[in-house]
Amino acid sequence: MTIPYGHQSIDDSDVAAVAEALRGDWLTMGPAVARFEDAVAQRAGAAGAVAVSNGTAALHTAYAALGVGPGDEVIVPAMTFVATASTAVQLGASVRFVDVEDDTATIDPSAADAAVASATAVIASVGYAGHPADADAVVAVAGRAGARVLDDAAHAIGSTWNGRPVGALADATTFSFFPTKNLTTAEGGAVVSDDPEVLARARRFRSHGLVRDPAELREPDEGGWHQEVHELGLNYRLPDVLAALGASQLARLDDFKRRRAAVFARYQEGLSGLDGVRLPVVRPGADPMWHLYPLRVLGGRRRELYDALRAQGVLVQVNYIPVYWHPYFADRGYRRGMCPVAERFYAEELSLPMYADLTPSDQDRVIDLVRSTLTGSAS
Ligand SMILES: *Cc1c(COP(=O)(O)O)cnc(C)c1O
Repeated sequence: MTIPYGHQSIDDSDVAAVAEALRGDWLTMGPAVARFEDAVAQRAGAAGAVAVSNGTAALHTAYAALGVGPGDEVIVPAMTFVATASTAVQLGASVRFVDVEDDTATIDPSAADAAVASATAVIASVGYAGHPADADAVVAVAGRAGARVLDDAAHAIGSTWNGRPVGALADATTFSFFPTKNLTTAEGGAVVSDDPEVLARARRFRSHGLVRDPAELREPDEGGWHQEVHELGLNYRLPDVLAALGASQLARLDDFKRRRAAVFARYQEGLSGLDGVRLPVVRPGADPMWHLYPLRVLGGRRRELYDALRAQGVLVQVNYIPVYWHPYFADRGYRRGMCPVAERFYAEELSLPMYADLTPSDQDRVIDLVRSTLTGSAS
């Protein structure tokens, strides 16, 4: 019997919501999308939301909506999933990777400050594992640089920073609704913002760049069917069937957060006092909704612990290889050693199983295996 590192929680209310959408008139481009968007925006403390087909599409859409293009530079923390950087590259921007904080693996605002240049258009932050970045410091750096902030909150819907929800901390915030994330639509994502121009651009980018509002048409008298493309977009729409699942999941988010907090607390307690590990910390002001439980394994024993847990069916993960270690970036001149804190974090990190439905007995099995492997005793 295996224990995954992450897993969705689907109950009868989710199944009923999807079945109702399937029986309705709209499988896509219908009213369930707007309902889900309103609920996401409210939860995220933002004026509006644009639902898209996945978290990578959300990043691509958000960068495009912030006007990122050729000649621009985007600052990205080295400790993130590749999509935080690759979507900016897709738009023709160049990426500057900056180092992260030793305790939270979130962007180091002073490193971002040192990296800003006249071409800096956006500073991206990432709420790694669900712990928000130091948003006030990042916003201050961006303000001095004349740049905007994009918060990649793929891990962090449901988290707050100084009492404000993730989604209300940056010029634009993106979410992923992949099954292992804090809530799921199978595949899905969203962009939220307070800026009506960012929201309007994101909405157009999601659907081929099409403009239908008569006030914006260049040829308003062409006929009732007429629509125009002024800026290119893609088809990144989220179907109604999945939006209905998302709305149902959002109603359960507080419960998910409580259950993830209980898993976090049980690890903190069960692993306390164990030599050779560092446990994750919560900074003052942060109230994370934990997506990952990032254990740090010291003394060069991360691989040994990974292999031992995997061999016992505990499907731990490593999040993440520093983005610029990927051959795509290495081939373009990004050198190892550039972000030493992120590199050390990567060398030590092991994501233990973390999800709302993880049972205490399965979790205790994980804790016992970690302890017995590192202390060399039989469990
Ligand atoms: C999951 C994830 C994404 C991409 O989301 P998808 O829905 O898988 O496309 C982007 N950034 C981070 C930090 C993620 O964890």
